[in-house]
Amino acid sequence: MRILVTGGAGFIGSNLVDALMAQGHEVTVLDNLSVGKVENIAHHLDNEHFHFVNDSILNLTTLERLVRQADLIYHLAAVVGVKYVVEDPLTAIITNVRGTENVLELAFKYWVKTVIASSSEIYGKSTEVPLREDSDRLLGPTSVGRWSYSDAKAIDEYFGLAYARKGLPVTVVRYFNAYGPRLDPLGYGSVIARFITQALQGDPLTVYDDGEQTRCFTYVEDTVEGTILAATVHQAAGQVFNIGSNRETSINELARLIRGLTNSPSEIAHVPAASTYGPDFEETRRRVPDVTRARDVLGFEARTPLEEGLRRTLDWFRRRNGG
Ligand code: UDP
Repeated sequence: MRILVTGGAGFIGSNLVDALMAQGHEVTVLDNLSVGKVENIAHHLDNEHFHFVNDSILNLTTLERLVRQADLIYHLAAVVGVKYVVEDPLTAIITNVRGTENVLELAFKYWVKTVIASSSEIYGKSTEVPLREDSDRLLGPTSVGRWSYSDAKAIDEYFGLAYARKGLPVTVVRYFNAYGPRLDPLGYGSVIARFITQALQGDPLTVYDDGEQTRCFTYVEDTVEGTILAATVHQAAGQVFNIGSNRETSINELARLIRGLTNSPSEIAHVPAASTYGPDFEETRRRVPDVTRARDVLGFEARTPLEEGLRRTLDWFRRRNGG
């Protein structure tokens, strides 16, 4: 198949591209390298079945040319990560809303099946876990920048579901805290990248607040598998799926695990989240997916144990640092 991956030079996108290339597809990546990196796709650049276009999903001319040539689109291009969103909400909102609108409008015009990457951030601060795809969302005020990401992704989902009602095969996947090789090595945008970087440098592991907030960390190979199933399982069209592990881990536990795996002398330091994100920051205390629908419809299950995934991620960080 001819597959377009927007955001294909990013962390999840490039791991998806590896899997698609291994399956023998013709893959085109559209990425403006705002967060993505050429090094994530460098190993494919000489392959005649791989094409890289360095441009934005906001450039309609480029996007139209690429969508017209595609049999399937994975739309992952977005401004992701609480830190980026809080620092520059305008860019995040425009990219995440207008960009998806562009992709879907053209997918509808040329009738191309599309998988839209969404986020568990959709659920906001709801603690009614496990979170089902049709659970209520609970968000704070618009003055708190974080929630703009949740709402932008919700608009994306509304767009996707609206086009699905018109008959276009669109599927939405909600990712739960993906981690693995190619996380930003500077530790930007993910607690696991930050803790590994801090541990390898012997710096304190910065656990925010009491550290009893939880996440369900999902190894990126599992995330990719769920994404591909969303495109290949026929009944998935028109539906939303949680793609994540259901093992709930507190940030305190994560810090201890990473310190143990790295044999690091780093101390675990509890610091206020407000010191990084500003006084208006609001935290999501628990985030656990209900995985029933993904299991029943897609046959998906996140299989990689956290310790194993962390070991592989750590290996990648070490190799990258030349160690
Ligand atoms: N976190 C932390 N220390 C850090 C970075 C993040 O304790 O240096 C916490 C953060 O407060 C949140 C969790 O780790 O509870 C996951 O944060 P991340 O930014 O990775 O993802 P998200 O909040 O979007 O789930």
